[in-house]
Amino acid sequence: MTEKSYGGNNGIREHVGGNTGKVKDSSKINITDKKSKKPTTKISTSDNSSLDELDSYKKAGEIAKEVVAYAKDLIKPDMLLVEIAKKIDAKIESLGGGIAFPVNLSIDDIAAHYHPTLEDQTKAYGLLKVDIGIHVNGFIADTAFSLDLTSDKKYKDLIKASEDALEAALSILEKNPTINDIGEAIQVSIQKKGFSPVVNLSGHELGPYTVHAGITIPNHANASPHKIESGAYAIEPFATTGEGKIYEGAPSNIYQIITPKNTRGETARKILEYVWEKYETLPFSLREIQEKFGGMSRLAIKELEQNKIIHSYPQLIEVSHKPVSQAEHTFVKTPDGKIIVTTK
Ligand code: MN
Ligand code: MN
Repeated sequence: MTEKSYGGNNGIREHVGGNTGKVKDSSKINITDKKSKKPTTKISTSDNSSLDELDSYKKAGEIAKEVVAYAKDLIKPDMLLVEIAKKIDAKIESLGGGIAFPVNLSIDDIAAHYHPTLEDQTKAYGLLKVDIGIHVNGFIADTAFSLDLTSDKKYKDLIKASEDALEAALSILEKNPTINDIGEAIQVSIQKKGFSPVVNLSGHELGPYTVHAGITIPNHANASPHKIESGAYAIEPFATTGEGKIYEGAPSNIYQIITPKNTRGETARKILEYVWEKYETLPFSLREIQEKFGGMSRLAIKELEQNKIIHSYPQLIEVSHKPVSQAEHTFVKTPDGKIIVTTK
């Protein structure tokens, strides 16, 4: 997933869009109490529970690499997006990973945050961004790549522009760069090739069970003097032939719990319990809910949304409706300053 920037560009998160992590104050609900959310106490289906934080990040990255290789081999033009989504989910879980967010399958001018519903008949075509999130014990690997599904490979250069910008950013990490240095490296690399960076989409810090935590890393020069401190981060350049800005479009069918409080409807309650147990504050998809809860899902999700228990992520669409490419890797900076790119 990516982060839309709101307002200034100092590298500090200015708007949280609902993912505040404040849901831990769950005293008014009677769904599963998870007050002691020590990340290391989670995960039951695999033997990852003994891994420490760094090893969990590394393990998530290892799984991510396998899933990316699998997805690149799997995806062909005209394949149903919903088929791709189901298979990627199954692959992540078969490798012992948790799904950190619903795989984003965003085509052409949709830069990010598209996920098919169960009945969505959209097929893969054009410039497809595949953005995958995997967690181990809540520690996340966030990685994305772009595929050119056109017969004449007309997006080849645009895809290379975001990939090269990502490499440019990663290559300076050892030099203890500021947030501005990273943004500038991305911007210069993309503009050199005659494209524009998408300026209001950003890389971001990652926290336990939190996809967008702490600082943001803009994809352009931003005057931020902040240096990257120890922690986990995703860098994700977006390149476009268009203006280089996105707006918030139709719902993505991706949701997230903001306040897990009681609600009237029985299905809504069951869905809330299911999501809280499996994902806590991580994003989840309507599609998975439809698979588990059937025909009542849409109404129940609407109830949860109206009661402000969950919020919906909008699709992020390029303002001039031009195609957008994306590349993304996650890295960890250790307290002694070592850089480990986990997804590469
Ligand atoms: Mn992502
Ligand atoms: Mn991301």
